Amino acid sequence: MTQAGEGAEGPVSRREPGGHADGLSAGWDYAPAPESRDIVSIAPEYGLFVAGEFAPAAGGGTFSTVNPATEETLSRVAAAGPADVDRAVAAARAAYDQVWGPMPGAERAKYLYRIARALQERAREFAVLESLDNGKPIRESRDVDVPLAAAHFFYYAGWADKLEHAGFGPAPRPLGVAGQVIPWNFPLMMAAWKLAPALAAGNTCVLKPAETTPLTALLLAEVCHQAGLPPGVVNVLTGAGDAGAALVAHPGIDKVAFTGSTEVGKEIARSVAGTGKKLTLELGGKAANIVFDDAPVEQAVEGIVNGIFFNQGHVCCAGSRLLVQESVAGAVVDRLRRRLASLRLGDPLDKNTDIGAVNSPEQLDKITRLSATGEAEGARRWSPPCRLPDRGYWFAPTIFTGVSQSHRIAREEIFGPVLSVLTFRTPEEAVAKANNTPYGLSAGAWTEKGSRILWLAQRLRAGVIWANTYNRFDPASPFGGYQESGFGREGGRHGLAAYLDA
Ligand code: NDP
Repeated sequence: MTQAGEGAEGPVSRREPGGHADGLSAGWDYAPAPESRDIVSIAPEYGLFVAGEFAPAAGGGTFSTVNPATEETLSRVAAAGPADVDRAVAAARAAYDQVWGPMPGAERAKYLYRIARALQERAREFAVLESLDNGKPIRESRDVDVPLAAAHFFYYAGWADKLEHAGFGPAPRPLGVAGQVIPWNFPLMMAAWKLAPALAAGNTCVLKPAETTPLTALLLAEVCHQAGLPPGVVNVLTGAGDAGAALVAHPGIDKVAFTGSTEVGKEIARSVAGTGKKLTLELGGKAANIVFDDAPVEQAVEGIVNGIFFNQGHVCCAGSRLLVQESVAGAVVDRLRRRLASLRLGDPLDKNTDIGAVNSPEQLDKITRLSATGEAEGARRWSPPCRLPDRGYWFAPTIFTGVSQSHRIAREEIFGPVLSVLTFRTPEEAVAKANNTPYGLSAGAWTEKGSRILWLAQRLRAGVIWANTYNRFDPASPFGGYQESGFGREGGRHGLAAYLDA
């Protein structure tokens, strides 16, 4: 067993995986409540989904996808190469020219509604598969990822026949073929965020899921087939970063949409520059979650936990920098520690699990390295006592206090369950610290005063600002960033603009 909490402040006690570590409630525990994985049937091998059919990659390459909680290989998946990208783009072009582009919006909407309903009908299957392939707790895949994916299809189905009323002129046109590259943190949800508005606007798509999480995108391809979507309207190319690079560089693509790291986003921006392709980038973040002295502490603590420990902190808009007003910092951090001690880390398929597995050994290594720099630079590290399972990739929830703005853990996206705590004295100082980042995706504010929320919202340089809540998503609400967090918006009416020649 790897022991989390070593090197932490204070004594480290021990508990069983998933056990309750809060000393106040010791003596009782939750019974295991595992979701059955029988609902999912995972094939030993998957092909690429091109022109409505699954087929091996032209070069015959495959790679494994692994359950990060157990290191068990779930399946082998085709690795797309340049010839497959050519074939998928050609299929998408033919479908755009012959079927999807000319189809009336009201007809396109019917397919989107069918996909949405199939997602709802097969929700448990999608949720279990997502948790197996990604490592996230079933509670999150079941209650957040899958319902939001379905909601996106429902929402954009409603726009498909109303594009001329969306505020983009009397007859907005689709762009053509969209190349879409998505990350591993919300595999199904990101696929829905990309596909639904593109299809509603009349584009056809070639989607490249992340290498470590291809399975729900492939199940979604099956759902597209089940919904009778004409061949070539949606194509799914599994593969590594080189497949993504080949896709975005392909001359047959009219629009590139990418969610992922700022580093790769910059590479893509360079590759697309001067080609006339339309581009949207949703990149990293280092959001400030700001707690004022008048905030209700219990609620704020729940919001802090949801802000950074939801999805193991693998969230671009995670509230990874807690800015807490100095006069209440001690009380907030004390309460936060007690709450962290009650979080349950372990089997992602257990319905009581709060914190699942880190998605890959590479990501675990990155979180471990950046956390070590926090200690080396002088911040104080603390984790609740909890045991990490022997197999799989795990990182205990961690908070750093005594963090200064120059520390790497206050500046860089860790993308893990690691919170940096900083303090401020005045609202002006909170704004200055919150904006002291090259990113600008999201922020949170906890205060009783509505006027202060409005004052802050005018000053924070962030695309999304949550007030007295955090990590709330709605398909009708635009999402996107400033600066190194990218440009363009997904969701809402704004999300259509990215896929229309308006
Ligand atoms: P990447 O940005 O590398 O991956 C995102 C997607 O882009 C994946 O599908 C990836 O494929 C693909 N890709 C990789 N290289 C290229 C390229 N040159 N051209 C086109 N597509 C490419 O993220 P990583 O998974 O490597 O994670 C690295 C770090 O990025 C994380 O530690 C985290 O900090 C951050 N990140 C941020 C996200 C966010 O939403 N803000 C999301 C994911 C990661 P493949 O999976 O095969 O590499």
